[in-house]
Amino acid sequence: MLMLSRVLSVFALMMGLAGGAASQRLGPDASRPQALPVAPGVWMVQGLSALGSSANRNFISNAGFVVTSTGVVVIDALGSPELARELRAEIARATPLPVTHVIVTHYHADHIYGLQVFKDAGATIVAHRQALLYLNSDTAQQRLAASREELFPWVDEQTRLVPADRWIEGPTTLQVGDTTLELRPVGPSHTPEDLAVWLPQRQVLFAGDLVFRGRIPFVGQADSAHWVQALDTLLGFDARVVVPGHGPVSASVRADLELTRDYLLHLRRTMGEAARNMDSFDEAYARTDWSRFEKLPLFGVANRMNAYNTYLLMEQAK
Ligand SMILES: [Zn+2]
Repeated sequence: MLMLSRVLSVFALMMGLAGGAASQRLGPDASRPQALPVAPGVWMVQGLSALGSSANRNFISNAGFVVTSTGVVVIDALGSPELARELRAEIARATPLPVTHVIVTHYHADHIYGLQVFKDAGATIVAHRQALLYLNSDTAQQRLAASREELFPWVDEQTRLVPADRWIEGPTTLQVGDTTLELRPVGPSHTPEDLAVWLPQRQVLFAGDLVFRGRIPFVGQADSAHWVQALDTLLGFDARVVVPGHGPVSASVRADLELTRDYLLHLRRTMGEAARNMDSFDEAYARTDWSRFEKLPLFGVANRMNAYNTYLLMEQAK
């Protein structure tokens, strides 16, 4: 149904039927969730590349949905209840089946404030148990209080934090109708509770927020050893399509995964050697060969700090 309406829209444009108002109505509106096909029965909506604000209704993250023979599995719930209602409407255009499950890749605000819409409609929420640490923390309450002001009226007093109905701890297979979903813990990387979702029948991987695309990542205080392991886990799926937590799907996502991993390994190898030899950071930094990475966006901004953080990390670890 969804595809048909898109095809008709394009047809109308080709036939010159779309005037000003019509083309506005038919044209893409990136500020609203719109279901984009990823693979047969698999869809995503793509958030804006921006910081969350009242103006964009906190539509800054992606979500996905998988249509099985008996129901729909949603992956992440977007950044406000209103967006989740729009996502439900997009799902309803693709299938009459109900949403039976929502899998949360991690409990960051922009991925979870829509959860209550699916919970209230009867879906089972599934997440990694490590998220309880965050949900039970003052930080989560403070964050919600701040969001109720910054994202008003889209996040308000009615918006609540929704815990999972089913907490998983290790690799878990979820069978829904004819569709197998492999849930793999890949934290602590971006968060302690990171989950990746693998669809073996469609060779699609929902990677959550572990992937930086086409740029130098900000390493910060991250545990880069775990991050490398997590990227290896993701690469092990040999996915045909990877849906990141932010930004578009692309055929180059596998290359991006490898680039991020190889960059982290290069930092750990070079800075680890310097720390072991008790070379000064400046000396080690100056003699390191950065040629593979120095043309990447944000190299000038991020590389020296990434190297320094890794040097400190490796000093503690030696
Ligand atoms: Zn995110």
